[in-house]
Amino acid sequence: MTWVITSLCRDCVDQSCVQVCPVDCIYAYTGDDAETFPNQLYIDPEECIDCSVCEPECPWEAIFQDEQVPEIFQDDTTLNAKILDAKDQFEVPEVEELPTPTPEQVAKNKEKWGFTG
Ligand code: SF4
Ligand code: SF4
Repeated sequence: MTWVITSLCRDCVDQSCVQVCPVDCIYAYTGDDAETFPNQLYIDPEECIDCSVCEPECPWEAIFQDEQVPEIFQDDTTLNAKILDAKDQFEVPEVEELPTPTPEQVAKNKEKWGFTG
């Protein structure tokens, strides 16, 4: 079992999840293929220990257990796993403190992705 970071993280990347992951398995892409690896964080499915502590830390509500990933974000499970094909281009990011989004911003982000959950 692994957890998955969905598109709700795109361009948000405040890294709250990185701070709490006990095994440092949440990564940022450092390469230049933004089409394949868009600007979000990624969970290595082989390193994730299914502890679930990252999920409540995400202010954008972007993290789901693989079996609970909403239909609309199904492709994100595959996207996170693509890290395994290019692991040398990923690193655990330096944590940057960013302002917590307002409930309105979180709702607007979900709306942007067509997610009503
Ligand atoms: S806490 Fe959520 S929005 Fe922030 S980087 Fe992690 S997954 Fe992305
Ligand atoms: S579930 Fe636990 S091990 Fe997996 S990414 Fe989240 S914090 Fe890390």
